[in-house]
Amino acid sequence: MSDSLLGELKAALDARAAAGLLRRRRLLESPQGAHVRVDGAEVISFCSNDYLGLAQHPQLIAAMQQGAAEAGVGSGASHLITGHHRYHQALEQALAEFVAMPASLLFSTGYMANLGVITALLGRDDAIFADKLNHASLNDAAVLCRAQLHRFAHNDMVMLERQLATSTAKRKLVAVDAVFSMDGDLAPLTALLALCERYDAWLYLDDAHGFGVLGPHGQGAAAAFGLYSDRLIYMATLGKAAGVAGAFVAGAQLVIDYLQQSARSHIYTTAAPPALAATLLTALPLIAQQDWRRQHLHHLIAMLQSGLQHGRWPLLPSATAIQPLLVGDNHQALALSEYLLARGLLVPAIRPPTVPAGTARLRISLSAAHTVDDVQGLLTALHAAAQEIAA
Ligand code: PMP
Repeated sequence: MSDSLLGELKAALDARAAAGLLRRRRLLESPQGAHVRVDGAEVISFCSNDYLGLAQHPQLIAAMQQGAAEAGVGSGASHLITGHHRYHQALEQALAEFVAMPASLLFSTGYMANLGVITALLGRDDAIFADKLNHASLNDAAVLCRAQLHRFAHNDMVMLERQLATSTAKRKLVAVDAVFSMDGDLAPLTALLALCERYDAWLYLDDAHGFGVLGPHGQGAAAAFGLYSDRLIYMATLGKAAGVAGAFVAGAQLVIDYLQQSARSHIYTTAAPPALAATLLTALPLIAQQDWRRQHLHHLIAMLQSGLQHGRWPLLPSATAIQPLLVGDNHQALALSEYLLARGLLVPAIRPPTVPAGTARLRISLSAAHTVDDVQGLLTALHAAAQEIAA
């Protein structure tokens, strides 16, 4: 390979490093949870998406072991060839029932689900309307589907309505994070559905961070808002609150039938191991029945919010497990994250391009696996940091 090709990459990496934007992978040496071993140190982690604390639940570990013993460790083929195991079939049915929608379809990850569904539903003659703070996977799907892309300011329903009203596209689809991944706030779901009805558009909800956490028994954001409609297409990942991996899309039977035939990231990829589906079949009743996990989580959220009310750095308004502490400057966000790490608290600094310039933040993720003492320890360290870290 020529020196200039490598030189270009080096220059790009050096520029990122100079701007304080280089990301580093940390090495996890324990199961995922609230108390973990990372890079050789025992820390309390505030950065997993294991919101209900299920990732190392003994019943789920047993289900995965038993699933592997029964069905093997690999699916061996894509769903439409011979990879669709009866565990997958049972899981699709259970997920549809769980979210009270007619049918569902499995994907290997939420990223793949977003790419697959949106590229299956939209083409050049169509239009997609997307919140500016949508997750990267929705943004990538919007580009890949080749439809006209209209981005509206965060949660700005007036702007969205103007875009919908003036669009002459054949098919329209509004796509949003139900819970925004870096801000933790909710999309105005009822208003979104009303606009989609008025302008005959699909509503695509990415509920990666709401599934398991919101709704009376963790059925997610759509259930929390009582949204039921044939034009609603609901996506949730199974790698966050559900504690395992994978994702599903739920909707009207016809939509799911269509996606099964046309979502390329469902068709042209090896099905996830059936043991994963078996594990998720065990996780769903735990999510539904163990309300105490959600109650404890919401108690911790309230505790963090009241503890940081008049602090140096404000929390962004969020009623979910994602509680972002707005710092602003990239270097200061990094310094705060390092200050906490030195005290055994792992809270990642999120910087551009993941969030807009000037809004670097600590993204505090709470979990039902945390104790009151864990959160109190974080509050104490943040108050000390506010005195000690230079402006
Ligand atoms: N959508 C949102 C809003 C997310 O936050 C994520 C994960 N970070 C995804 C989709 C992708 O889900 P998965 O991790 O299952 O690929």
